[in-house]
Amino acid sequence: MSQVVTVEHVSFAYGEKLAIDDISLSVEQGDFLGLIGPNGSGKTTLLHLMLGLQQPDHGTVELFGEPAQEFEDGQRIGYVAQRSTDRGGTMPITVREAVTMGRFAHVGHSRLSDEDHRIVEEALETVGVADLAGRRINQLSGGQRQRAFIARALASEADLLALDEPTVGVDAESRDQFYGLLDDLNRRGITIILIEHDIDVLTRHVNKIACINTELYHHGDTVSFLESDALAEAYGAAHGVVEHDHP
Ligand code: ADP
Ligand code: MG
Repeated sequence: MSQVVTVEHVSFAYGEKLAIDDISLSVEQGDFLGLIGPNGSGKTTLLHLMLGLQQPDHGTVELFGEPAQEFEDGQRIGYVAQRSTDRGGTMPITVREAVTMGRFAHVGHSRLSDEDHRIVEEALETVGVADLAGRRINQLSGGQRQRAFIARALASEADLLALDEPTVGVDAESRDQFYGLLDDLNRRGITIILIEHDIDVLTRHVNKIACINTELYHHGDTVSFLESDALAEAYGAAHGVVEHDHP
C-alpha cells in the first residue's frame, strides 16, 4: 500500500493557542478517510497541514512520499475548501469553463487538445452536471455547485480529493447523491479525505475514521471507531472546558 499522506508528530498553534497537538496518522492509497471532531477541534487546520497549505510548528508531513511544503504536483489534489459553496456564488463563469480550468495544469501555455476536451466532457458526465455545463456557477444550487467543483478535480486527474464540509447548505437528497458519487469515485481508486459533521452520514460512507480534538483520539477503520469510546472522549474534552463555568 503506498501512502498518500503521512503525518508524524505534528503540532500547530495559532499564536498561543494550540490547535493540533502531536498528531500522527497516515492516509493510504484507496482510503476514504472521515475526519471528525467538535467545532474548533482542529479539523480544517489538520487538513491544511496534510495538504501542505499550512506548515507544522513541529513534526513532518509527506504528500505522495515528498515533504508536503515541497510538493508541487498540485493537480494531483482536488481540494474543496470549507464554505466554498458560498464563495462559488460569485464566480461569473460557466460550469464547463470552471471544469476546463482543471486541464490547464496539464497543457501549460499550449492549446487544449481534443483529448483535453474529451476529459472535460467525461468529468461533467461523471458527476451528473453535463446538462448544466452552459450555466454560470453562480446560478447553481449548492449541491450542483459542489458537483461542479468535483468535476474540476476529476478533469485535473486528481488522485486525492480533500473535502471540508462539502454539503453544508445542501438539501438531504442532493447530499445523498453527492456521497453516492464520492463512493463511486473511491471505488475507482481515488483517495478521499472528508470532513463531515454528521457522524451517521460519515460512517455510512467512509472506511477509516480519524477522530480529533486538538489531539488524536482514534485513527482506524470505521467498525473499531464505532466500538470505541473515542467519540464521547473527543466531544467530552470540549465540554470539560464549559463545566468550569458552573458555580
Ligand atoms: P474545525 O475545522 O475543527 O472547526 P479549525 O481548524 O478551524 O477547527 O480551528 C481550530 C482552532 O484554531 C479553533 O479554536 C479556531 O478558533 C482556531 N483558529 C482557526 N483558524 C485560526 C486563525 N486563522 N487564527 C487564529 N485562530 C484560528
Ligand atoms: Mg473547519
